[in-house]
This record gives sequence, C-alpha cells and structure tokens, in this order.
Amino acid sequence: MPQEVMRGLKGLVVSSTSNGDYELAQRKAEETALRRYQAVAWLRQMDQGAVETLPEKPSEDEFSVALRNGLILCNVLNKVNPGSVLKVVENPITPAIQYAEGAAQSAIQYFENMRNFLKAVEDMQLLTFGASDLEKGGSSNKVVDCILCLKGFYEWKQAGGVGVWRYGGTVRIVSFNPKGSSPRQYGIGSGSTTDESVSLDESESSQYDQLLDFLHLSNEISTEETETAVSMAFLFDHFALQLLQAYIKESDGSNDLPLNEMVIDTLLNRVVKDFSAILVSQGTQLGSFLKKILKCNNGDLSRSGFREAVFRYLQHRKDLVTKEFSKFCKCGGKLEFIRPSNREFSPGHADAIGVQQEELEEVKSNFVETRSQVIQMQSQWEEEIQRIVHHVKAMEVTSSSYHKVLEENRLLYNEVQDLKGTIRVYCRVRPFLQEQKDMQSTVDYIGENGNIIINNPFKQEKDARKIFAFNKVFGQNVSQEQIYIDTQPVIRSVLDGFNVCIFAYGQTGSGKTYTMSGPDLMTETTWGVNYRALRDLFQLSNARTHVVTYEIGVQMIEIYNEQVRDLLVSDDIRNNSQLNGLNVPDASLVPVSNTRDVLDLMRIGQKN
Ligand code: ADP
Ligand code: MG
Repeated sequence: MPQEVMRGLKGLVVSSTSNGDYELAQRKAEETALRRYQAVAWLRQMDQGAVETLPEKPSEDEFSVALRNGLILCNVLNKVNPGSVLKVVENPITPAIQYAEGAAQSAIQYFENMRNFLKAVEDMQLLTFGASDLEKGGSSNKVVDCILCLKGFYEWKQAGGVGVWRYGGTVRIVSFNPKGSSPRQYGIGSGSTTDESVSLDESESSQYDQLLDFLHLSNEISTEETETAVSMAFLFDHFALQLLQAYIKESDGSNDLPLNEMVIDTLLNRVVKDFSAILVSQGTQLGSFLKKILKCNNGDLSRSGFREAVFRYLQHRKDLVTKEFSKFCKCGGKLEFIRPSNREFSPGHADAIGVQQEELEEVKSNFVETRSQVIQMQSQWEEEIQRIVHHVKAMEVTSSSYHKVLEENRLLYNEVQDLKGTIRVYCRVRPFLQEQKDMQSTVDYIGENGNIIINNPFKQEKDARKIFAFNKVFGQNVSQEQIYIDTQPVIRSVLDGFNVCIFAYGQTGSGKTYTMSGPDLMTETTWGVNYRALRDLFQLSNARTHVVTYEIGVQMIEIYNEQVRDLLVSDDIRNNSQLNGLNVPDASLVPVSNTRDVLDLMRIGQKN
C-alpha cells in the first residue's frame, strides 16, 4: 500500500508539471468567461438597471465594477425571493465615483447593499461569496457562481420547487449538515474558543463543507466525517492563524492596528478566502489521488485502507502546503529578512560606522580637492599647449621665410661671383729659392688693383718696364691661407650647382704644385688650394646634410707634354684628342666622404 501511495503521488507530481497545463488554463479561462456572460444575461433579463449598467459581455473588471454597489444584486434577489433585502440603497452612483478609492459615501452604500445581499443569500443557503471578491484582485468567479446558483434556484422555484435542488453537484440547497460542522467557531490561538474568537460566516464555512461534500460525492465512499472535520478544523486553525499573523505583519507592522469590526472582518475575509483557495486546490488533488488509488485497487478499498491513504497524503502534503501558504502572503516572508536591518546596532558597531563615516568624509574631501587640482592643471596644460601651438606656428612662418631669405641670399651671392667675373686670373710671385738668394728680382712694383710692373734690365728704356694686369697679384711673402681666401667663395658656388675650375699655369719650377697642393701634406698650415677647397666642400656639405645630400668624387689627371694621364690608375695615358669638354669622362671617379680619403688619393696620384 505505501508503494502504491508513492506511485500515486509521483503520478500526481508528473501530471501537474505536464505540458497540457497551458491549454488547460486557456480552456478554463474561456469557460469562466462563458459562465460570466451567462450570469450577466440572466441579470439583464431580471433587472432593468442591469441592462443599463452591465454590458452583455463584460470583462472581469467591468463585471466587478457594475456589481460593486450591490444595487443590481439586491434588486434581482428581491425578484427571486421577494422581501429578502428590505432596504436597497438606491442613490445613483456613477462609475467614476466607484473607481475613486476611498470615496466615503460609495463605500458605505457598497457595504450596506452588499452586506444585506450576502446575508440574504446565506439565509437561503445558496452559494455565496466574500465581499472582497468584487474588489480589485478578488475572485469574480465566486460571484458568478453565486449568481448562477441564484438563477438555478429561481428556475427551480418557478418550476414549482419540487424535490431536491442541487447546484453543479457541489452545493446542495436542501440542508446536508455534517455533524458538528455548523455553526463552527474558529478561534485565534491554539484552536480553543475564547471570548475574543471570531465567528465565521456561514458562507465561509460552507467552502469547507463543499470540500467534505466533494470527497463524499466524488468517491461514493462513506468517510468518517467527524474525524475528517476535526483534522480539517485543525488545519484551518493552524493556517488561519499563520495567515492572520502574516497579514497583520504585512500591514506595515505597526502595533497600533485599529482593531474595529471592519478590520477584523476584512482580515478574516482575506484569510478565509486564501485558506479556501488552498483547501479547494488540495481537495482537487486529493480527489484525483484517491481516484487513482481506487483504480489501482479495482475500486475495492477497505475503510481503514482509505483512511490510511488520506492520512499519508495529508502528511506528505503538509510541507508543500506550508510552502504554498507563504505565497499567499504578499510579503512572501521577505519581511522577516528586511526586519533585521532595522534592529538596533551594538555600540561597537556604531563606533565602527562612525569611524568609517569620518574616513569616508575625509576621502570625499580629498577627492574634491584632487579633482579641483586636476581641473586646474588641465587648464594650465591647455594654456601651455596653446602657447606651444602658437610658437610652432610662428616658427613655421619664420622657417619658411628663412628658406626664402636663404634662396635669395644664394642668388645674390652667385650674382656677386658673376660680377667679379666668371674667369679670374691671379698672379703669385714665388720667392727666390735657397740657391737663388743673391739674385735680383725683376718685380719692380705690385699694385693693390692687380697690376704688376716687371723690370727687364736687358731691354732699353721703354721696353725695360712692362705692366701686367690681373684680378689680383700676390707677393712673394703671401701665405697659403691668404691665397685661398679669394678661392673660398667659388667653392660655395660649386655646392649651389655651378661648375668651377681652378688651375695653375706656369713654367716648371714656378710654384704651381706648391700653390695647388702645398709642400707638405702632413702640415695643414701649408696645405694648398686643392685641400683647402676640399675641406670646405666637406664642411659645407655636412652642414647641409638635413637639406641636401651631396655625393663627392675625385678624379686626378695630369697633362704633361700634350698627354693626359689618369693619376689614380697606374700606366694609363690618354691622348689629348680624347679630352672632351670640361672633364675627362673616362677618368677614374673615386667617391670620397672626407678630406682624409682625398689625401690618400692624392698620395696615390703623386706616386703615379
Ligand atoms: P712647379 O710645380 O711649377 O714646377 P714647384 O711648385 O715645384 O714648381 O716649385 C718649385 C720650387 O719652388 C719648389 O722647391 C717649391 O718649394 C718652391 N716654391 C714655389 N713657390 C714657393 C713659395 N711661394 N714659397 C717658397 N717656396 C716656393
Ligand atoms: Mg709641379
């Protein structure tokens, strides 16, 4: 038997989570709406007021709002059972006022009519509902049930009221009083009845009767009603107490709850309503559970076996019901978790919090200070950047104008060189050599303007003195450096792209090699024009590396007795006829990058 119970329970659990649930819910909703329309149709048929205020197919809300003042219900009830409600409050109440919650007048009328109606229906032992069922969030289904029940009763009565009338198989109009179940007292507390106990309406307890009746009818098994009733009463007491506590807690926990009749009424109504909902769902599940057991036993079940099954089921469901109960409480038990935060803190706690608060303040002020500093720095940087940008722009302008000036300078410079003449002839007088010391010089006079007067003692008078004109004449004491000063500007023209040629002319021993190369390559002071020119060339090209890259190469040739010799290659003699233009194209061109390279080449050249 226990195994079978377990199997039955499993079956129950599985079926409750099956996919058919959604379809079932939809079908139920449609059914509910149809029943509501049916009830409305009857109300409209019975009462002219209903025709005006109730649409044929109202929504749940429209339905509740229209019935809330109890006017229609009272009028209809008076038609079904004349004199049921002696005084119906007839003041017309607009829906707008009804919607406005807390409108005192409508509330009073609402209670008057509704209370009278419910009382009368109860007295007739018809299916009833709670006053809160017409409020927001209430169950209008119960209202519909009540109306349809009233309709059934009315029709039964019209037909003559013969025999026993049942409504929907779950409610009997003809009295069926389970022993000791009516009227029942439900006490607040451990199940005992006290002076302050609240007597439940017959309507609320009838929900409980329904469950018993349901068990009775659906299984056609005679239960020991008293025992079941007692356990049910215990369950109710147990849950009702908890529910009540939950509701009281939920009403913001204030201790000074105004405990007037209305509050107690409302509270108990809600408790009973929720409990009834639990009971109904439990009843349905228990019913299907029992049916399953019956099927397993081929409908053959002993009374004790049945009782045992119910007992086990109740035991098992107790936990689940407790959980389900918590869902009915709006706070969902959360209140218990929120509460601790309102508890008083220990002094240690408070101290720690105080310290933390101070630290927090400090950190905050630091943060504010730092932020202002950062903002200040940021603005300073911005100013600085602005200054730099301005500066860079100025430099850009300056640099572009500098380049312009430079170009202009270059043009002017080369113009000056041009004006000085593209061909310049200089004269250098060589001093006497050691062995010529006693000889007399023929140079009579050297002028600043480039004139030189030569005396020829072998010629007579006029012919004896001759004047020669040069660009410049250098005397015998002029140093190598002074010679080069006039050559230097020409080297700059080379780097500006001009072709330049410097050569020495004169008979053997007149000092060409001395002037061009110098007597000693090792001492820089005696360097001739060639080396000095190359040195300047390298210096200038190095200074301009970031603007122009120069490639400098060296050729070294000798013209001797009408023959051209490439001095950088041994044994290479060229004919004069091979010379073409300014340079000697086929002569070895050796790239150089500094004066040292050139000196090395010169040595090779001189050897050759
Ligand atoms: P060239 O190359 O024209 O044949 P050199 O340059 O060899 O003549 O000069 C001949 C000699 O005269 C060399 O001994 C040289 O040192 C000397 N000499 C030439 N010019 C000068 C000078 N300005 N001062 C001193 N000695 C000189
Ligand atoms: Mg020479």
